Amino acid sequence: MPDVYNPWEILPREELRKKKFQKLLKTVRLAFEKVKEFQNRVNKLEISTEKDFEQIPILPKKKLISLQENNFQDLLAVSIQDLAHIYSSPGPLFDPEGREKDYWGWTEAFYAMGFRPGDIVQNTFSYHLTPAGLMMEEPLRTLGCAIIPAGPGNTDLQIELMTKLKATGFVGMASYLKTIGERAQAKGLDLHKDFHLRVAFSAAEILTPSLRQTVEKSFNLTLRQGYGTADVGCIAYECECGQGMHLSTRCWVEICDPQSGEVLPPGMIGEVVVTPFSSTYPLIRLGTGDLAILDDSYCACGRTSPRIKAIVGRVDNTVKVKGQFVYEHQVQEVISNFPEIKNWQLVIENPQGKEKLTLYIQGQTNTKALFSQLKEKIKLSVFIEECPVIEDSKKILDKRIWEK
Ligand SMILES: [Zn+2]
Repeated sequence: MPDVYNPWEILPREELRKKKFQKLLKTVRLAFEKVKEFQNRVNKLEISTEKDFEQIPILPKKKLISLQENNFQDLLAVSIQDLAHIYSSPGPLFDPEGREKDYWGWTEAFYAMGFRPGDIVQNTFSYHLTPAGLMMEEPLRTLGCAIIPAGPGNTDLQIELMTKLKATGFVGMASYLKTIGERAQAKGLDLHKDFHLRVAFSAAEILTPSLRQTVEKSFNLTLRQGYGTADVGCIAYECECGQGMHLSTRCWVEICDPQSGEVLPPGMIGEVVVTPFSSTYPLIRLGTGDLAILDDSYCACGRTSPRIKAIVGRVDNTVKVKGQFVYEHQVQEVISNFPEIKNWQLVIENPQGKEKLTLYIQGQTNTKALFSQLKEKIKLSVFIEECPVIEDSKKILDKRIWEK
């Protein structure tokens, strides 16, 4: 039998879905009873099927900011005395934390990635104001790991702690672990002999295959990633196979068309819409703004939940042109075949009501080849213009003007 933390992870898929839907119904009913924001969003509650649930308007993450400014407590299902922390994330967004066990739900994720009792884990996520650092504490403690609450920065001290205490686990951003490795090598340390890292957890950034490979090879460890947000905690995580992130048992995840909100089938790119089974902060159908693809093939590890193949970008960096979505990662994929391009920006305009795409590139390249690869990838014709410097950092810039 597969070695899992939560028996639900290996339930037959349909049974798991049914059980999760029951939890979802409970959460929705609780929210309707106690959460003012949700009461305002839906007039009445008539939900017995998944289709009914999909009719509930999505709550865009951006909207949380103004809702919280109005009255933070309107989003809670509990009173203040039931909260353990109130964090603040950039936005600014406030992230309440309840007192229930495994509030952020990362325990099954850490177990799936290979964290075990007796591990000494260096946690480099911030413990200051944002929930990231403390969010990872409880699950690791529950699993029997001892945590070094290092927080981010001070790389020399990180190296000293990691080597002297013989840390076996790392929690933080993979890019930061890479930096730690480079600094250690510059100091003359051997990443295999002087370090004892066996397993690493990365989140909060897009983990490219090359970054993963570099870190795994240089330290001789297993690097796995998780996906979550500061509002809801864990959403999905990789198992030992490292082929996509299993949806957690603790929340309901939908992939939705970023414009119509319609729930999309596996294999299509859409926005991650999540509902955590939380009795403290039950955000119903939170639109995370993250774009992902769901893979419903079965994983070799024995877990039955579908997997998020990858987080491919943000809804904000997506435009619909001539009925076709254009995603930043698609353009980036093509650009990566042309290493001479130092920087790029895709601009969409509509002079005289006609939509026009122009790719500005910094650096000289074979524009003919670039044009045809782009056309194949995004199914649209793109004008290509070289330009000495691209100032705006936005990769996809929508300059269309719509008549009112
Ligand atoms: Zn798996």
